Parts: sequence; C-alpha cells; structure tokens
Amino acid sequence: MSTRLILIGPPGVGKGTQSALLHARLGLKTMSSGDIFRKEIEAETDLGRMAQRYIQHGELVPNGVTIEMMAKRLRDEDTRKKGFVLDGFPRTDRQAEALDEILFEMDMGLDKVISIEVPEETILHRLAGRMGCTKCGEIYHSRNKPPMREGLCDKCNGPLFVRTDDQPQTILERLRVFKETTEPVIGYYEKTGTLLRVDGSVGPEETYQEILAGITA
Ligand code: ADP
Ligand code: ZN
Repeated sequence: MSTRLILIGPPGVGKGTQSALLHARLGLKTMSSGDIFRKEIEAETDLGRMAQRYIQHGELVPNGVTIEMMAKRLRDEDTRKKGFVLDGFPRTDRQAEALDEILFEMDMGLDKVISIEVPEETILHRLAGRMGCTKCGEIYHSRNKPPMREGLCDKCNGPLFVRTDDQPQTILERLRVFKETTEPVIGYYEKTGTLLRVDGSVGPEETYQEILAGITA
C-alpha cells in the first residue's frame, strides 16, 4: 500500500508521535521539516546556520529554502514506492501550492491531510517540560512521562535534550505563527475534500486509531 499523508496542527499536538507510529506500523516514509532543520543545525551546515536564526525565535524559515529542501526529499523514488507522511510541511499557502506542483510533476496525489486538534491549554502544558532523546527520538515530559533516570533515555540510554525553541516565550510565538499562517492551509485542504480532523487530546494510541479508520475508510 502506498499512502500519502500530511499531518498538520499546532506545535506540541503530537505530529511527531503519530508519524513515528505511521512509519512503524505502515512502513510509510516520514519527512519532518523540523527534524531535517535540526539535523542541519547540528551538522553546522550553511542551511542549518540560516534556519537556526528563525527557529530560535519561533519564526518560520523562509519559503524558498524550505520548499527546495522538501522537494529534494519528495522526489526520491522511495516516496513513490513506500508512500509518505509529511510532518510540518506545508505550513504556508505558498508551500501548499509548491507541494501541489511537485506532486503533479511526479503524477502522485494526496490521500489525506490530517489535522490533529487539541485545546490550547493542553499544548502549553505539553511543550513546557518536553524532552527528547538525542539518539532514538523518544519523547519524554517532566511531569507526564518522566524518564526513569534523569536526563537519560529509558529505551537506549541516550542523553535527553530540551529543544531551544521550547522556551515559554518562543512557544507563544510558535502558536501565534500557527494561527496566523498555518491555520489557513487547513482551509485550503478542506476545500479540496481531503481533510480529516482527529482528536489529539485522547492519547497517542486512540489518535492513531482515528487516523487509521479515516485513511482506510
Ligand atoms: P513544532 O511543530 O513543534 O513547532 P517543528 O519541529 O515542526 O516544530 O518545527 C520547528 C521549527 O522549524 C518551526 O518553528 C520553524 O521555525 C521551522 N520549520 C519547520 N517546518 C517549517 C516549514 N514548513 N516552513 C518554515 N519553517 C519551518
Ligand atoms: Zn533513546
């Protein structure tokens, strides 16, 4: 089965968790623009240095470089064979149009755009306290899901880190940018009839089941 999905929603809504489940259980190739930027930053590439200036303030990286970066990955033959989950892209109307063009060129369509929805208070609570494993990507939370040993991953012993953009001021800015710039993209897909709304406040497994039901319906 080759399924093509987009996950869209405010920061902290669980897009990363759902794309990991979709990868593990359906074998879909996951492409997270945020993760790709973080890898570029870590590798200290020119793109990483440039992106970092925006990311640390909760602003979006400019469309041109973001589109180019994602287009390169989408054009890989793997995406055609295995299907894909896009997490964090498209985030602007311009990016959504560019994605349409890339998919048209490749003669591929989108199956579903999944909007994960959660009340704002929940988001603030989730993001403040979030930690991730530098090795395996597992996500922890200081109150909701603390690791057994402070600063270390339960699964692989890797060191945990707090994202530099998970500071309270930056979180508020990311939410503002989402409402202003990314929410209209949801409307764009609503018009084309590919939108699936799921509840992101019920727990990862329940959300996953809603997604599964929606994409196999
Ligand atoms: P979250 O969804 O939790 O805010 P991401 O990991 O998806 O986090 O993205 C982190 C940051 O990377 C964003 O705040 C933004 O600066 C940048 N970024 C990610 N995806 C895009 C995109 N499609 N366009 C522009 N900037 C992006
Ligand atoms: Zn780990």
